[in-house]
Amino acid sequence: MPGATRRNREKRDETTDLGADALGSGGCGSEAEEARLEDLQGKTILLFTPHPDDDAFGAGGTIALLNRNHNKVLIVLYTNDDKGSYDLEMTSQRLARIRKAEEEAGQAVLGTPKENLTWMGYDDGMLEYAPQPKLVEEATAIIRRVRPDVLLSVDPGEWYERWHKTDHRMAAFNTIDAVRAAEFWLYFPNQLLQRNLQPSKVPLMYFFYTAPQEANYWVNIDATMDSKVEAAMKHVSQFEPAIRKYRPDWDPATLAATQEQFRKLHPRKDGHFVEALRRETEFNQF
Ligand SMILES: [Zn+2]
Repeated sequence: MPGATRRNREKRDETTDLGADALGSGGCGSEAEEARLEDLQGKTILLFTPHPDDDAFGAGGTIALLNRNHNKVLIVLYTNDDKGSYDLEMTSQRLARIRKAEEEAGQAVLGTPKENLTWMGYDDGMLEYAPQPKLVEEATAIIRRVRPDVLLSVDPGEWYERWHKTDHRMAAFNTIDAVRAAEFWLYFPNQLLQRNLQPSKVPLMYFFYTAPQEANYWVNIDATMDSKVEAAMKHVSQFEPAIRKYRPDWDPATLAATQEQFRKLHPRKDGHFVEALRRETEFNQF
């Protein structure tokens, strides 16, 4: 589809230019006159995450800003994250319960009520082996039901495949496939015919965990960095020592050291804590 390719390339050039001064100044030109993500109010935001922690780690500061500004943030979790523990006494069922509770606690810190979390329930590490038509149909139905003003997702990559981690790769690709399917009613037509789910075009997308060379949008999260750190620390089973031998809490010294390390390693730009995103208004057609 050469026409679409050209349009995308032109848009990419504008967006790249915009990205150079996207933090703080707001840039120039028509795209820059749109409200910045962190300034939106009263919008519906739909975020897809592979695991119950990637949302907080990748976009927690942005989520807190969106909630603070009275947007409706809805989060869809592909997997239950029931594998990632070195504890030989852990079970998958128990780990799934722990990870769910951690996610609810973490998102509560960021202002997202647990009623806004949707669990698709796939097993950790197995998303790629789920029936793909079913997976994309489910995500498509969610998009058509929610009709988001803005969609956030793990980045599928624009120039090359970003991910080697299976669930991240699959969640990224499946979500963007569902974005495409959602706007054309002939994908899964029974969603319209039987459930009256109207086709839905996603107008704006921001991808997190983006490759540094593909980031074109930076959200200043100085105002919500404390909340992001607090939310991240709710995922206690993802960190040492609980990932090795589960315990539900932190000892104060380990917590302080982990918080400090988290801040130290967190991306910054121009002296501010930032979340680096890739902003797109359409999916690639080539
Ligand atoms: Zn993950």
